[in-house]
Amino acid sequence: MSEFLPFTKPFIDEAAITAVGDVLRSGWITSGPKVAEFEKQLSAYFGGRPVRTFNSGTCTMEIALRIAGIGPGDEVITTPISWVATSNVIIEVGATPVFADIDPVTRNIDLDKVEAAITPATRAIIPVDLSGLPVDRDRLYAIAAKYKLRVVEDAAQAIGSLWKGKRIGAFGDYVSFSFQANKNLTTTEGGCLVLNNEDEARLAEKYRLQGVTRSGFDGMEVDVLGGKYNMTDVAAAIGLNQLPQLEAITARRHVLAKHYFATFGADFEQQTGVQLPLANFENTNWHMFQIVLPQGVVRSEFMEKMKARNIGCGVHYPPIHLFQMYRERGFREGMFPIAESVGRRIVSLPMFPRMSDADVERVVVAVREVLGS
Ligand SMILES: *Cc1c(COP(=O)(O)O)cnc(C)c1O
Repeated sequence: MSEFLPFTKPFIDEAAITAVGDVLRSGWITSGPKVAEFEKQLSAYFGGRPVRTFNSGTCTMEIALRIAGIGPGDEVITTPISWVATSNVIIEVGATPVFADIDPVTRNIDLDKVEAAITPATRAIIPVDLSGLPVDRDRLYAIAAKYKLRVVEDAAQAIGSLWKGKRIGAFGDYVSFSFQANKNLTTTEGGCLVLNNEDEARLAEKYRLQGVTRSGFDGMEVDVLGGKYNMTDVAAAIGLNQLPQLEAITARRHVLAKHYFATFGADFEQQTGVQLPLANFENTNWHMFQIVLPQGVVRSEFMEKMKARNIGCGVHYPPIHLFQMYRERGFREGMFPIAESVGRRIVSLPMFPRMSDADVERVVVAVREVLGS
């Protein structure tokens, strides 16, 4: 049988391994010159906006909320279909998460429902670009302007994605990226936050490291409660290796996605009842290739049968509002029916730059076999 095909695999080349070795040999392994250089290159990539790096794409969002002054008594609107980090950070700062259901075609937050969920306590929106497909930025920022809301874009999956030709991150309010192992650009773990000005960037630096500001040779002051969220130079060295390759990585993902569509064929959806992803080749970075199984197909059984054919699948994501901790906050089945239906049936098929075209064909054959069509 052919070897196991995982649903994703980090893109690490020999140059990245050498770069890590160089940092480890240098005598300076935590935040230092590599972090500074990575931040400089990220800022250039995002059109010159201030950028700070962190040890996750979760603390980036928490810190953005803190910089925006969001806390107890405030409501923040987000999507139920995301990694649970997206709404956990709202609770972490003492604010209240409010969900708006998703659009079944994009699987992203439905902006009509966002508008309907706004109350006098609403302070911010956290949209998520699921699998790298951007939420409509024109409409999003029109709503934010109309109701005077802050936006923390959870663009964890959207590095390399575009909106009307502009890079996600190069415009907008706060934009958060993750460099976790599965993301299109990885530093093993890590993240970055794109900010609006240098004052916010200085505050982000304080929140990142115990609230400390240093001056001169021996000056130190602490005026806010910060945490321990800095990126290491070991991680930044991997990021510095990946950033110049991001365009090629994204291009390869586009080729693989096109090959999926061509191999499934034009009438696959009609034949099987499977919903393929939106065939968007203008904006998305194809972070994932997600299908929604037909009603009646049990996802765990589908995944088990794929596994038996040596193919790994992922689940991104079960609806957040149905987790126990969220149920304890009053959320119930039936509140966000589209998210619940998609969340039960969504499956991520293998998608990573070093897959071959033949791997795509193997996945498609297996999906057809498992669904019996
Ligand atoms: C990966 C991810 C995060 C969290 O990023 P970490 O770096 O793992 O903390 C948040 N939101 C979404 C949508 C993600 O995919």
